Amino acid sequence: MEIKVSTWLINRFKYQKIAKSIEPISLIETKLKWYWSALYWIGVIFTLGLLIFAMSHRKFMNEFATTLITRQGYPPSWKTLSIRVIIHECRHTTQAVFFGWLLFPISWINRRLRGWLGLPFFTLFYFVLPFPIYFAAGRFYLELDADKKSWRECLKSGVKTPNQIREHAKRRAERLSSGDYFWAWPKSLSLRSYKRAAEIIIEEYSYQLAKKIKNIEDDFNVKLPKIN
Ligand SMILES: [Zn+2]
Repeated sequence: MEIKVSTWLINRFKYQKIAKSIEPISLIETKLKWYWSALYWIGVIFTLGLLIFAMSHRKFMNEFATTLITRQGYPPSWKTLSIRVIIHECRHTTQAVFFGWLLFPISWINRRLRGWLGLPFFTLFYFVLPFPIYFAAGRFYLELDADKKSWRECLKSGVKTPNQIREHAKRRAERLSSGDYFWAWPKSLSLRSYKRAAEIIIEEYSYQLAKKIKNIEDDFNVKLPKIN
């Protein structure tokens, strides 16, 4: 009997192309490489074992996409990769590149080097500042920034609707306050910030869409039906 295995790896070159079009130094790979697992155990050491209670090794390897500067690791068991997640992970790579500018002028040499030079600052900001648990504003900010980028692009390309963005914002806000993100931020604040950010982006999108429709109506002298 033939067993058909369906995984995103079948289309890995397509995903790689998408990622490179968003962030040119991105490298998509599976989480089977040794350092993804090592990263988890380094986290366990630094959190004095607390990470095991927040998230199991199995969960980290099988349910999470993780970015390490240029490398974006995805669980091999996932059937497909969503464009929203690829944009999100690419944004983390871009964030590391921004941090790399702190080591100017060495980081000026090229983008990939800039990303890797950004690693210590990214790590400090993401995991430690100002406090690693409950008030990890750095982690909260970088995650929200990556989500905002993915919402904008998904709305613009029609991949997601405003209501899907609202639902996603709620889910993400809850996860950021859970063990999945090492309890980065108090839940009520997280929900409020995510809701506000999503509504601002939806409003921006609605405004751009209304402008586009108005231009079409003017150019063709027609009145298009309203979309709700
Ligand atoms: Zn993230």
